Amino acid sequence: MTKLEIVPHPHPALRWKSREVTRIDAELRQMVEQMFDLMYASRGIGLAANQVALPYRLFVINPTGDREEKDQEMVFINPQITRRNGSEEDEEGCLSLPEIYGPVTRATRIIVDAFDLSGQQFEVDLEDLDARVVQHEYDHIEGVMFTDRVAQSFLPKLQPLIKDLELQFRNRQKEGTIPSDEELKAQLAALQKARTAG
Ligand code: ZN
Repeated sequence: MTKLEIVPHPHPALRWKSREVTRIDAELRQMVEQMFDLMYASRGIGLAANQVALPYRLFVINPTGDREEKDQEMVFINPQITRRNGSEEDEEGCLSLPEIYGPVTRATRIIVDAFDLSGQQFEVDLEDLDARVVQHEYDHIEGVMFTDRVAQSFLPKLQPLIKDLELQFRNRQKEGTIPSDEELKAQLAALQKARTAG
């Protein structure tokens, strides 16, 4: 299996609306293991599959960010947020948008339905930071970035940083160190075909 890496904005995987996973097997479990490793190495607390260019509806979280705290790790496969309550604004960042932070309003309490790595369905009731992380990651598998939800008044502060990331990415495509968007999309479509009903 290929080695995964976190892809930055504006990689097309980040705008991909992922399909449901139809097969949970050893290879998928290895992908999830790599996702946790990458998340901890980058000091994150959540990581969605499309952030590592995998077009699947799955994400991992550990709100402590501490790899020793294994019991805080959660894997959500084919998740659905079935209830949202309350609302609170707090600062967010994203491993796909390094050094960019901004305020986002999220529900304070959610109920999520998902499958775990053994294929068991579960339901979980989450609050505060746990709920925020899951909403952020859930957005990723829908192709939504947190900057899409940052208050309009705050956006002008972030735009130059976002533009800078875009410029770096496009330059690397011109140099040939990153494939073109067309090639990246073809890779995503092939991966999707291999593991989803789509
Ligand atoms: Zn993110």
